[in-house]
Amino acid sequence: MSRFRLVLDPTACDGHGVCAELLPEGIALDDWGFPIIAAGIADDHLPHARRAVSACPALALRMVRTDRHGGP
Ligand code: SF4
Repeated sequence: MSRFRLVLDPTACDGHGVCAELLPEGIALDDWGFPIIAAGIADDHLPHARRAVSACPALALRMVRTDRHGGP
């Protein structure tokens, strides 16, 4: 099971699509160019996921751990 997942802030996302280019394994784009996020990130894809988070021009993506409780 994946230890991380991506969380999208839909109010911040502008549909640039950069994230899907950097993490095609975990992000698809809908018909309007907005991301559809996979449920979890495989460990092998974590470097791409980190790159997608840091490259998002709208700061709309963040990565959270799924194996920790109590706090962001
Ligand atoms: S790069 Fe950021 S703003 Fe662009 S589609 Fe992805 S989450 Fe949205």
